[in-house]
Amino acid sequence: MKRLESRLSTPLALVAMSSVGLMIAALMAIAAQIDRGALSHERELVTRGVVGKVLEVERAVSPQVLWDDAVEHLDVRFDRAWAQENINAYLFGQAGFEKIIILDGADRPLMAGTKGRLLQPAEIAPFTARVLPLVRQVRQRDAQEPRVTGPRADRALVSRPNQTTSIETFGDEAYFLTASLVQPDFGKSTRRPGAGVVVVTALRIDQDFLTAFGDRFLLPGIHLHVGNATSEADEAHVGLRDLTGKVVATLDWTPSKPGRDLLRRSILPIGLVVGMLVLAVLISVRRSRLIAEGLIVSEARAKHMALHDALTGLPNRLLFDERLRHALDRLARSDRSLAVFIIDLDRFKEVNDTHGHNVGDELIRHASQRLGAVCHGKETVARLGGDEFGIVAPDLDAAGAEALAQRVLEALGEPAPLSCGPIFSGASMGVAVVDAFETFISGEEVARRADVALYRAKDHGRGRFCFFESEMDAVLKQRRRLEQDLRQALLRDEIHLAYQPQVNARGVLIGVEALARWNHPEQGPISPGFFIPLAEDCGLIEDLGRMVMLKAMHDSLRWPALKVAINVSATQLRRPGFTETVQDLLSEAGAHAGQIELEITEGVLLGDDETTCRALAELRGLGFSLALDDFGTGYSSLSYLRRYPIDKIKIDRSFIIPLGEDLEAAAVVGPLFAWPGPFA
Ligand code: GH3
Ligand code: MG
Repeated sequence: MKRLESRLSTPLALVAMSSVGLMIAALMAIAAQIDRGALSHERELVTRGVVGKVLEVERAVSPQVLWDDAVEHLDVRFDRAWAQENINAYLFGQAGFEKIIILDGADRPLMAGTKGRLLQPAEIAPFTARVLPLVRQVRQRDAQEPRVTGPRADRALVSRPNQTTSIETFGDEAYFLTASLVQPDFGKSTRRPGAGVVVVTALRIDQDFLTAFGDRFLLPGIHLHVGNATSEADEAHVGLRDLTGKVVATLDWTPSKPGRDLLRRSILPIGLVVGMLVLAVLISVRRSRLIAEGLIVSEARAKHMALHDALTGLPNRLLFDERLRHALDRLARSDRSLAVFIIDLDRFKEVNDTHGHNVGDELIRHASQRLGAVCHGKETVARLGGDEFGIVAPDLDAAGAEALAQRVLEALGEPAPLSCGPIFSGASMGVAVVDAFETFISGEEVARRADVALYRAKDHGRGRFCFFESEMDAVLKQRRRLEQDLRQALLRDEIHLAYQPQVNARGVLIGVEALARWNHPEQGPISPGFFIPLAEDCGLIEDLGRMVMLKAMHDSLRWPALKVAINVSATQLRRPGFTETVQDLLSEAGAHAGQIELEITEGVLLGDDETTCRALAELRGLGFSLALDDFGTGYSSLSYLRRYPIDKIKIDRSFIIPLGEDLEAAAVVGPLFAWPGPFA
């Protein structure tokens, strides 16, 4: 059962676990992909944000440098006061530039300031040196542009902004550095020949800037590293590049992880779903296990029922045959012998007829228990059907078989304490012993031999056992042939009746007894002492009884003054509807009941059963007379004469023949002759 359970549950558990594992892996992969998408989106945002910031910075400066007045006051002639007010103070005030330098055409500082305050050019010399590459780019672009010499006819702007911005670091600070060329806007002022004036602004990337940037693009915890920190794990970063393209600073922020958040939020529902799945799998495994268990149990029950007898629980004939076959197989490989017993209860039908089928069943069960108690070794005890049992006893020689047979007979010979009181039954038994050298014998043959021996035991008076001997086969064959012949004789009406006269004490013929006679075509006359029990054994007694009765009744018409006695067997008398059968035959023959005497043996009265008693009373009531045959041979009891409506007793010949010589016989018979009873 355990193996079956694990056979069922292991693959299911594996499937369930791998499905859950796959689902989790798929969810994690999706979450990671979402996170990667979000990160790249944020990087793009930051990159564009920085570009936008550069444009913003340049636009902040642009109005002050793309201006005719600026050309007038910075290029044509340098007006320090104007520069202080309109460049330095204004740009610091409006856009929060940290540093501002105005360079002339030869890149010499005209003015420098920090946070609106003017500085000496020398103070800012290192800074000036760093901005020169930017300024150079502006000048190169300027050299490629045509010079503006006056306003345009359409009064449109005469110049486009010429600005370059780069990110540079100074110490642990980073700046947007922007170089912007001073140019006329409407052409009212004209630049002096040669290189122009350039205004350089520096906007520090400070925490305020980063906070505003982070708020604008929803990037929590954004901060700046000076240098290249883009290889750091975990954080999201965007590198800020200088004019040469080198990463000089890194913007870091805590990336939003929508995939991970989604995973975290869905972990509970997923857990619940997984839990429910696991539960469903467990329930279905359990259910399949229960179904499988049920199937195994019912299969085992069906198997047991197919191989065992329902009444006793013993193995049935099928299992008996199988065990016998196995025992014979093993026998072929050993040097031991094997014994098979067939046991049949004696006169079991009488128990059924007398006490009813239930008591019969009880007796069968009781016999099976006794057999079980006697055979507690390697033997197989089986119920072969009806009141017949079989034993297969491996490793048992003839002596052992005899001892076991004796024990079985003793056990079954004991009175059985049944619900109706103790029942004496007894059994007969046939034994067949097979030696190891008989290797080719079949189970059927061994059982048949035991059966033949059982037949002999029954034939020899029951309550005994017989071992199979080969001559039994011949006897049996002969008997079988006679059975066939008897059947044919009945069909061909070859049984005839002989009548034995009955005279009274004065020698006057008062009646005749009908006796069946069979003249076998080959074997000559067969004794009724042989063919009547034969007819009983092979189920022909009914037909024979009817035939005898009909013929005798018919013949009775020829002797109206005589009584005609007909023998009736116990089996006939116990058959339900016997009285009606007799009546029918009487009508068929047209005879008179008063002329017919039915002879029964004492054995019929044994057991004192109700059916017999009622049948006798009914027959007597119809006018038949009743005679008790062979009186004195069995359990003769005068009480029968009181209890049953007997008209006549026939004293057994063993009392009559020695009359005159044997005083004991005379002592028994004498008083009966003096009895006034029914003969008077
Ligand atoms: P014998 O000594 O020759 O064996 O005579 P018997 O009366 O025992 O006759 P036999 O063994 O031939 O018949 C057995 C009877 O058992 C026949 C049948 O009516 C009866 N029988 C068969 N099966 C069952 C059963 O399951 N329960 C009962 N109570 N009777 C059964
Ligand atoms: Mg029997």
